[in-house]
Parts: sequence; structure tokens; C-alpha cells
Amino acid sequence: TIAMAVIDKAGHIAVGTSTNGATFKIPGRVGDGPITGSGAYAIDEVGACGATGDGDIMMRFLPCYQVVESMRLGIEPKAAARDAISRIARKYPNFVGAVFAVNRRGIHAGACHGWTFQYSVRNSVSEDVEIFTIHP
Ligand code: ASP
Repeated sequence: TIAMAVIDKAGHIAVGTSTNGATFKIPGRVGDGPITGSGAYAIDEVGACGATGDGDIMMRFLPCYQVVESMRLGIEPKAAARDAISRIARKYPNFVGAVFAVNRRGIHAGACHGWTFQYSVRNSVSEDVEIFTIHP
């Protein structure tokens, strides 16, 4: 899955996902990618989140909704991302997954469980895409 969040000059925030779903594909499976709040979520006044991993487990927790609502309460992206991942890991210690979080000021973070996760960032002042590696 690729999840992407963008913040435009006016401060509008959008997020989306693209997945082939092949990893867990069985006929009729939708996966978590298109489920709002699970695969991705964004609110202009707060920020955005995108997820990847064991969608059948992650969709039970709406982790991206959780992250954005935590940030709405003033929690920094890093803590919000870690909290959402740890809620899943407490119930499913063997799940593999990750989220990125970005708030409306562009502060970003990632959290993962069961694997090492990378996400990339480009902003208005960066010369190139910067890659961030997050360890569980
Ligand atoms: N979350 C996706 C799914 O379960 C898989 C992925 O992130 O690669 O369909």
C-alpha cells in the first residue's frame, strides 16, 4: 500500500491510498485501504494519517482516525502514531503494520510494529524527497 498526504498552500489537507491488495488477496476482499479512518484519514484543522500493513487487523481499530483525533487533542504526531500502533499491538502482538502522521503545521512522524517502515517527505523548502526510517 502507498498512502499519501498533501497539504496545499491554503492549508487544505488531503490523503489517499493506492494498493493492489495482493498480499492478502482473496476473492471479494476489499482491504483496509479504501476504508476511511483505517487506511487513511485527514481533517484540515488537524492533520492526516496513512497506514499500511495487516489490513484485516488494522481495520478493526481505525488507526488513522485514532491518530488524527489524538492530534486534535494536542498530542504530537509521534506520540499519536505510537499510541495508535500500540493499541493494535496490545491485542495482536504479531501484527505487522505502520502509520505515518502529519499535523497541519507539517510536523510528521511514523510508528510501526513487526517491521521497519520508511516514509518520505517533500515540503516547500526541501530540495528533494527525504526518507525517514522508523524502527519498531
Ligand atoms: N493494508 C493492505 C491490505 O491489507 C496491505 C498493505 O499495506 O500492503 O490490503
